[in-house]
Amino acid sequence: MRLHEHQAKHLLLAHGIAVPRGEVASTPEAAQRNARSLGYPVAVKAQVLVGGRGKAGGVRIARTDTEVAKATTDLLSGRVRGALASSVLVEEAVSIARELYIGVTLDGAQQMPVLISSPIGGIDIESIATTEPNAVYRAAVRPCIGVPVYVTRAAAAHAGLTDEPARAYQETLRTLYAAFIALDATLVEINPLAITAEGALIALDAKIIVDDNSLYRHPDVIAEWGGEPEGVARHEARDAGLSFVELDGDVGCLVNGAGLAMATMDILQMLGGRAANFLDIGGGADSDRVATALQIILRDTQIKALLLNVFGGITRCDEVANGLLHALQGVSTDVPVIVRLAGTNEEEGRRILESSGSGIVLAKTLTEAARLAIDAARQDRALRVVG
Ligand code: GDP
Ligand code: MN
Repeated sequence: MRLHEHQAKHLLLAHGIAVPRGEVASTPEAAQRNARSLGYPVAVKAQVLVGGRGKAGGVRIARTDTEVAKATTDLLSGRVRGALASSVLVEEAVSIARELYIGVTLDGAQQMPVLISSPIGGIDIESIATTEPNAVYRAAVRPCIGVPVYVTRAAAAHAGLTDEPARAYQETLRTLYAAFIALDATLVEINPLAITAEGALIALDAKIIVDDNSLYRHPDVIAEWGGEPEGVARHEARDAGLSFVELDGDVGCLVNGAGLAMATMDILQMLGGRAANFLDIGGGADSDRVATALQIILRDTQIKALLLNVFGGITRCDEVANGLLHALQGVSTDVPVIVRLAGTNEEEGRRILESSGSGIVLAKTLTEAARLAIDAARQDRALRVVG
């Protein structure tokens, strides 16, 4: 789970990393109040889960109430690299002498965390690694040992730092690694880590991705995340023992089994459609599970058609059909539902759906179902289901 910048900054601050004073706002008035209490100038930053906001105009410096209101209005009404922001972070603007990069991530090939440091900050680390590989310092860290002093010293020297900033830099690297471990993160990144005109280190940006599998150990992270729909849907799915993956198309996919989910994505894609998500109800799903899954998936407002693709093995098609009808009674939706059932109790399942008067569209094959779902999504509610 990727956290927003302001959430990541809260967590880093709690670990002892300096961040600019700031507060989020979701209206121009609130942004002005924040700015006045911080004092001008301030940075107004769109809270979106994409990088490269700086270059895309998602970070503005404001010197007056009018400028703060204008920046906030712009950032909340437009898109930043395709993403909509529902809030901005208003921060004290920092006078930057230098920008550096530091991060810790998991290196799959080495099967260890790796500490990364670069004297070139504020730019995508992947592009620096490509254009100037020597400008990136990397050291794998053995979790049972932690970050040795010689590693942080080498990183500071590589970044061209001496004396006090070098000491502070080493301390920040150690703290960042400690935060990475404590948060069960797959990535913590500060880009840029600024050296201010006064010589202090401060995290101007922060990115944290927490391993979804360990979220249950981090109520603080979940609390920090708050009530945003995408995160909530995934939490709910996990609590119900379902796995939910959000994508950016418009056909919702409810399937049983990861392999079948992949096949369903492939067919949709091949036929020119795009999945909005997939929700895997797993093997042996009963009607309650199907009902929960449907409620979660239909909350996604991107969905224009729902494709339910079930291959009955241990899972029985009649149970799935009953779950589907049960769930549709509980939700009011006009999203067309296309169903393909195959395998155990297939005929029974189809009969239940056909005689239900629910308007559910039954397909014989996956290809046919995918075509119907794509058409329905395109026509946007041509086939209506009354739940
Ligand atoms: P990103 O482009 O999405 O990674 O967003 P960042 O938070 O890294 O901001 C991009 C750039 O904006 C940084 O590299 C800084 O140069 C600049 N920036 C961000 N915050 C401040 C600030 O408080 N003061 C100043 N002067 N510049 C800032
Ligand atoms: Mn950044």
